[in-house]
Amino acid sequence: MPEDPVLELRELAEALEDWLRFQRRLGWRGTPKESETQAATQPQESGRALTLKGIREKLGDCKRCKLSQGRTQIVFGDGSPRAELIFIGEGPGAEEDLQGLPFVGAAGQLLNNLLSKLGLRREEVYIANVVKCRPPENRNPEPDEIEACLPFMKMQIAAIRPKVIVTLGKIATQALLGIQTPITQIRGQWQKFGNIMVMPTFHPSYLLRFPRERHKTWEDMQQVMEYLADHGEI
Ligand code: SF4
Repeated sequence: MPEDPVLELRELAEALEDWLRFQRRLGWRGTPKESETQAATQPQESGRALTLKGIREKLGDCKRCKLSQGRTQIVFGDGSPRAELIFIGEGPGAEEDLQGLPFVGAAGQLLNNLLSKLGLRREEVYIANVVKCRPPENRNPEPDEIEACLPFMKMQIAAIRPKVIVTLGKIATQALLGIQTPITQIRGQWQKFGNIMVMPTFHPSYLLRFPRERHKTWEDMQQVMEYLADHGEI
């Protein structure tokens, strides 16, 4: 039992007053109203609370750009919703359009080989594209198509919250980072998307055409693996 309960109560009240004063100096504006508390717990488009499933539902039978006209199906993305590593390419090709999965053609096989050499399984990373419908004749996605589709890729990133994003090729790198730098100049150099590290490297299709360049992407991925070893669980 306290020696003087009244004195102890007064000291407690003074301590509480000091604490409240300190919190106000830090910017606290009082207890939130119930409606504010509820709003804070609702799914956020930019937060982890927004799930991949929710984003896919939001995308729906998308016709936000002209690429919808020639697609067989939307290629949303594939892999772990808790991946520490995301690979982003430019858009689905013919095989991807048929199967509804990203990177399943020849370029996908090369990506799988790369993952396997790095000791990674496809299921533990996440793979997607800047645009989710196949551009005709495998042409590059156009700026209006990227503008329409990129917000969904960004939501996927926000939902997964990876440690590292690897952008595959010029289109994905320039679109995500909002730059015009050629991939040959920026490849292998760490960039940032918000607080997420980004490693630009060559697209597997390019490496199929120029196999002598493969060692550069291998070097880029070594940097990624070193970063994840220091900062992630991989
Ligand atoms: S590319 Fe993206 S924005 Fe365009 S129709 Fe397909 S899903 Fe929609």
